Amino acid sequence: MRKKIVAGNWKMNLDYQQGLSLFSEIVNMVKDEVIGSQQVVICSPFIHLHSIAQLAKGTTQVAIGAQNIYFEDAGAYTGEVSAVQVKSTGADYVILGHSERRAYFGEDDQMLRKKADAALKHGLSPIFCIGETQEERESNNYFEVIRTQLEQGIFHLSGDVFDRVVLAYEPVWAIGTGLTASPEQAQEVHAFIRSELVSRYGQDIAGRTTLLYGGSCNPKNAPQLFAQPDIDGGLIGGASLKSRDFTDIVKVFN
Ligand code: 13P
Repeated sequence: MRKKIVAGNWKMNLDYQQGLSLFSEIVNMVKDEVIGSQQVVICSPFIHLHSIAQLAKGTTQVAIGAQNIYFEDAGAYTGEVSAVQVKSTGADYVILGHSERRAYFGEDDQMLRKKADAALKHGLSPIFCIGETQEERESNNYFEVIRTQLEQGIFHLSGDVFDRVVLAYEPVWAIGTGLTASPEQAQEVHAFIRSELVSRYGQDIAGRTTLLYGGSCNPKNAPQLFAQPDIDGGLIGGASLKSRDFTDIVKVFN
């Protein structure tokens, strides 16, 4: 059985106190409402990581992640944060290759490869994002786009290392737009990703890899999306900023 994961990506939202309050609410709701074996991951801005990791002590169901790292371990890189530093806060995950980082901060496949290596070297599991733009979907080019992102960004890893990677399919046209991929559209791409995994890593690893869907996921559409055979959870943006909505999405797996 694959691990089911519901991850929240807070993006650049919430001040320090607001982040701690929201996190406490989520942890308490998850504890009170007894969830199954699904893993919850909260990917906060760097400023919250250490404090929320402290608040998460005592619950194994809520893990912490960052939204980015730099690929060097230490040194004169003003403003950057390394995998070693993130790991030392108590985090276990890091989002890599989010389309906002690709589009606004010029992150390309070559850089993402190095970031994935750095994350894995220091015990962080990458939540590695891939997905096509509206234009690429309309030109019917999306399978090729996704294949290239996988091959160039993450398929350099050997199988035993890749085993610790989580993939997230996030169609760019569905992010923050309220325009969700239909369950059929999402499943079509997830099945394609799974088949690429089979070709590269074989049945066992492909069968174990958690594939998340992200893009305007909410408590209403999550049940149908998560019911698809190759969708193992979600990477949630806007709805992860509301404790009730987020935990309702988590509970889809109950
Ligand atoms: P929204 O859920 O706000 O569309 O964001 C999705 C996302 O980018 C998660 O990483």
